[in-house]
Amino acid sequence: MSETERRTIIKSEVKSDCYSGETFDQIENRFETYCEGDMGTDTHRCDLVFRVDELPPGATVEVKVPCCSGCGLPRDEIREFQDGAWKIVGHATRCSCGFDWHEWTLDQYS
Ligand SMILES: [Zn+2]
Repeated sequence: MSETERRTIIKSEVKSDCYSGETFDQIENRFETYCEGDMGTDTHRCDLVFRVDELPPGATVEVKVPCCSGCGLPRDEIREFQDGAWKIVGHATRCSCGFDWHEWTLDQYS
């Protein structure tokens, strides 16, 4: 049985504004989203929502994260216990192997 071909109709990347805040040195993440049929991309801070009733059977949603060039692991999450549940509140600026994720972000998006 052959693999069903799938076409990308929505693509989004988290991109950092490295000149955010009153002092223009804060990093603020935003989605840059492209939807099939759009003339260009949309940059926003709204959460992405996928409604099951709006997608056909067989649709897939996949999230890929960058991995450390030193050890191959994804960036560590920073979690806090809030309102009875653990929530992701940020990501580590440095990998356990020493790789500098903050510098990587500046290299990619500033
Ligand atoms: Zn690493």
